[in-house]
Amino acid sequence: MTMRGYGGRILHIDLTSGRSRVEPVSEAMARSLLGGNGFAARLLLDHVPPGIDAYDPANAVAFAVGPITDTAVPGNSRACVASKSPLTGLFFDSTFGGRFPATMKRTGFDAIVIGGRAAEPVYLKVTEAGAELEPASSLWGQTTRDTVHAIQDAQGADTDVMAIGPAGERLVRFAAMGTYWKNREGFAGRGGIAAVLGSKRVKAVAVAGARKTELADAALLKKLLDERREPLMTGTKALATYGTPFLVKPINTLGALGAYNLRQETFADALAISGEEMHAHHHARDTTCLKCPVACGKQYEIRDGELQGLKAKMPEYETIFAFGSMLGNAHAGSLTRANDLCDLLGMDTITMGVTLALVCEALERGWLSEREVGVPFGW
Ligand code: SF4
Repeated sequence: MTMRGYGGRILHIDLTSGRSRVEPVSEAMARSLLGGNGFAARLLLDHVPPGIDAYDPANAVAFAVGPITDTAVPGNSRACVASKSPLTGLFFDSTFGGRFPATMKRTGFDAIVIGGRAAEPVYLKVTEAGAELEPASSLWGQTTRDTVHAIQDAQGADTDVMAIGPAGERLVRFAAMGTYWKNREGFAGRGGIAAVLGSKRVKAVAVAGARKTELADAALLKKLLDERREPLMTGTKALATYGTPFLVKPINTLGALGAYNLRQETFADALAISGEEMHAHHHARDTTCLKCPVACGKQYEIRDGELQGLKAKMPEYETIFAFGSMLGNAHAGSLTRANDLCDLLGMDTITMGVTLALVCEALERGWLSEREVGVPFGW
């Protein structure tokens, strides 16, 4: 029987043996956990032994979607990836958008659980028929974007790919993973989950499928969405216009932005890196996750300074905090470049930025020398 709202299946892959198995989703599980984050947390609790190191092959990485994924609900194309984090040693989840989440739902799997360790670099291809492991030695060392495009060249443009970069391969404890689609990228940045994939020698996860999500009551959902459309668009006007950087100015005014490794509550140059200011000077186009009318993503084209001509994704609010106010940096071009480099190498921009802020303060206090850091650095 098809479960409405769900694919009704969980895919387990053991990289060590190369085998996979399918577990049905029970109605009780769906009702108590809903999907997405709830499924991922439960699956890790059930399948990861307590006390292990995050890089132990027995650790698992769970991708999960929920009942509204790939429906008409705005913002539905979001997914969760979770694991035991090499950064904290605790459960960690990170969410991302783009088109990958909707495509994953079309495979008919609500969750994909990856355990074990492959003997050689692989990428995982998941379709309605299950999982296949493909060789990925030639992709090892490549950026997230080049990896995604190489796999799409091999598997077709309808395939969506989430890839780790060189940072995940080298087990950087704050490694991130990225998916690229023409209308919007998606990054699962936090907690170093890409490094867990790197420890398993998984360069990427590719998904392709055509299953439709059956709704329990399509007419009622349409009525609800019709009622909510206008409040949604009104309530998200600033987000839709400027993206998450619209938060910089009000949060700085509240004294909560944080600057210079949090030694100051506010940043005097916050206006220069606010959503309004960067939009006015560098906005090129809006980008959006699949079927989301908010379109909070932006592509920038830097129009002044030494990085003039740089075309890249807008840094999100948290990235502006980490590479901007925390470093005393009010240079929009450098924020955009740092964001892009982290995306390509597969590193979490937030942890990278605040780590650099700690280095700045350590240099200032004499806890680190310039010789130890290796390059001229500081605020
Ligand atoms: S475009 Fe923005 S608001 Fe819409 S789903 Fe993606 S992240 Fe959410």
